[in-house]
Amino acid sequence: MTPNRTPKEVREYQTPAHGVFFTVERTLFKGRSRYQKIELIQNASFGRVLLLDGLVQTTDKDEFFYHEMLVHPALALHPAPRNVLIIGGGDGGALREVLRHPVRKAWLCEIDGRVIEVCRRYYPWLRRDLADPRAELVVADGNDFIASTGDRFDVVLVDSSDPVGPSTVLHEKAFYARLKGLLKPNGIIAAQAGALLYHQDQHRRKYRFLKTMFRQAAFYLCPVPTYPGGMWCFVYLSDAVPPLKSKRRAIPSGLKYYNAEIHEAAFALPNFFLKTLGRLR
Ligand code: SAM
Repeated sequence: MTPNRTPKEVREYQTPAHGVFFTVERTLFKGRSRYQKIELIQNASFGRVLLLDGLVQTTDKDEFFYHEMLVHPALALHPAPRNVLIIGGGDGGALREVLRHPVRKAWLCEIDGRVIEVCRRYYPWLRRDLADPRAELVVADGNDFIASTGDRFDVVLVDSSDPVGPSTVLHEKAFYARLKGLLKPNGIIAAQAGALLYHQDQHRRKYRFLKTMFRQAAFYLCPVPTYPGGMWCFVYLSDAVPPLKSKRRAIPSGLKYYNAEIHEAAFALPNFFLKTLGRLR
C-alpha cells in the first residue's frame, strides 16, 4: 500500500457519525440472497470478515468471544444438555461450540440457505460440523420452525442478526413465549441481545417482558472488538436453572475465552446498564 492510495475498504456505520472499516485484501464472495446482501472479505488484521447488509457478523480474529459466550454459559449450566436448537447462526460458529459438548442432537435453523452455502465454502468447521451425525440443518425461518416442530429442547441458542429484516421477529415477546413452550424441564435459552452502548432502548423493552416470563432472566456481557461499541449483551433465560448458583458441568477443553471465572464475571453489570434495566435507581 502506498501512503497516497486509498485502499479498497468496507465500512460499517455503527452510528451516523462513527463506525469501523476493514481494508479488503480480497473479496471472497459478494452477492445478494432473497433476504440480504452477503459479503465475505479477507482483511489483513482480522482474517475473513462476514457482513450481512453491510453489518459485521463475524471475523476470524474475534469470533471466539461471541460464539463461546453465546453457547457455553447455557451448556455448562444445564445438567444434561442433549437436544440443542440454534436459531440463526449460519456462519456455523455456534454449532461448532455446541458440538464440543456430548449433545445428542443439534439443530441449526438458518433462514438463508445462501449464507450456509457461502460459509460452508469458506469456513472449514461448518463443512465438518454439518457432516457430524448429531447436526441437522434446517433452512427455515426460526419463528416458523418453532411453530411447527414436534421436538423439545434442553437448550435454545438465538444467534440472530440485529432486529432488522427477517430477524425482527426473533426479538419479540411472542417468539420467546413460543420458545418457552418448547423447553424441556431444566430448559435454558441464551440469546444475543445487541450492543451494550447502543441498544439500550431494546434492552429496556426486552427486559420488561422477559422478566415476567422467566423465573431467571439475566443479561450477561462479553467483549467483541469488532461489534458496535466493543461490548456485547446476551440474555440468559430459564425457569429452573439459575445462571450463577448452579453446579456447572465440565467445561470443554481448548476454549479461548470462556472459563469458570469469566462465567461469574460476565453476569456483573455496570451501573448505567442496571439503571437501563430498572434494577438501580
Ligand atoms: N453473531 C452475529 C451478530 O450478532 O452479528 C449473528 C450472526 S448469524 C450469521 C445471524 C444469522 O441469523 C444470519 O445468517 C441470518 O440469515 C439469520 N437469521 C435472520 N433472521 C432469521 C430468522 N428469522 N430465522 C432464522 N435465521 C435468521
